[in-house]
Amino acid sequence: MAILEQLTSQQAIELEKNYGSNTYHPLPVVLSRGEGVYVWDVDGKRYYDFLSAYSAVNQGHCHPKIVGALIKQAQTLTLTSRAFYNDMLGKYEKYACEYFGFDKLLPMNSGAEAVEAAIKICRKWAYEVKGIKENAAKIIVCNKNFHGRTTTIVSFSSDNVANKNFGPYADGFINIDYNDLDALENVLKTHSNIAGFLVEPIQGEAGVYVPDEGYLMKAKALCKQYNVLFIADEVQTGIARTGRLLATCGNCTCANKDCSEAPDVKPDILILGKALSGGVYPVSAALANNNIMGVLTPGTHGSTFGGNPMAAAVAIAALEVIKEEKLAENADKLGKLFRSKLNKYIETSNICKLVRGKGLLNAIVINDTEDSDTAWNICLALRDNGLLAKPTHGNIIRFAPPLVMTEEQLLDCVSIITKTLQAFE
Ligand SMILES: *Cc1c(COP(=O)(O)O)cnc(C)c1O
Repeated sequence: MAILEQLTSQQAIELEKNYGSNTYHPLPVVLSRGEGVYVWDVDGKRYYDFLSAYSAVNQGHCHPKIVGALIKQAQTLTLTSRAFYNDMLGKYEKYACEYFGFDKLLPMNSGAEAVEAAIKICRKWAYEVKGIKENAAKIIVCNKNFHGRTTTIVSFSSDNVANKNFGPYADGFINIDYNDLDALENVLKTHSNIAGFLVEPIQGEAGVYVPDEGYLMKAKALCKQYNVLFIADEVQTGIARTGRLLATCGNCTCANKDCSEAPDVKPDILILGKALSGGVYPVSAALANNNIMGVLTPGTHGSTFGGNPMAAAVAIAALEVIKEEKLAENADKLGKLFRSKLNKYIETSNICKLVRGKGLLNAIVINDTEDSDTAWNICLALRDNGLLAKPTHGNIIRFAPPLVMTEEQLLDCVSIITKTLQAFE
């Protein structure tokens, strides 16, 4: 079979089934093109993308400015390794540090790698700055977390499918419930060897769990009180997704003026990935100030591709698009509209119990048991009606379209979603 031959959906699915490792359970739709808020399947049918590659494509599919930066850099210099300097990395580091308000950036590729890097920075800081006894440092993490798929990260996952038979597990983590300040304070009070608290500002993968108002601010204050690093995993929530530049707000200059979390919830370590590249290239980063990032020295961390010139060029363009197109403001506005429209539908619905979220990171909860296939069937029907979404954890459907959506398109999507739900009432 020639590489360029156009496959049918069935052929493409068969190939993955026969030759790919079986680690995903995709909705049966085979995509071959994307532009803005739309993707097209191999038969030319158009869909609204309501997942955005788990918020990697916030800037929309194939954004011309980001793709342009990629092409230009690809024709100039792609990779030098960090054995030598390149003329793009420093530019990007300065741009991103000023953009998010940190002294230093550590460039990596995948989200999980950036989380791993943050864990390493946190531990080294604990031994060398805080003065915890060697090998005794613990990091507090939350139940139902999702931070990636590496062996260390799955060691503290509470998802049995994610970690069963991948032991022995990495030591040094204490799990507490999400959105539980008493649990956090209790661990901080009773342990003297805590190095950090690693948390998602909204638990996206778990089903878009939004914590109580003020939770992040109070958690950060507790961390400060006990000299513990507050580490925000904003791989999914960051970069305009929740209606602000960051869900923790950080150096935020968002439109949301009554934002109660700002600006005190600046993380000690900020973890970014996904939309940092607008979905065109794997780019991730951990950011921190000098007193923390300073613990890393040559040889203590690295990555062959981390900080390569293509990644740098792409990330600068991707971040510029966020500001130029005011995507945080748009996500804030459309998110409110989306939830108000769905809440109106839910008033008289039996099949849908609630909608929750912030900005354009939302989820609906389907009124059925967690192990039922109703949410899956609704997603198949949504697909047939021209909108792609996927259940996350049984009866929850996440809705996270690209942030370049217009109000008219969003209203069209609301009508597709409500019409589809109607058929299941
Ligand atoms: C997706 C995600 C990750 C992992 O990113 P990868 O690029 O898949 O390694 C980590 N944390 C959060 C919150 C995520 O959503």
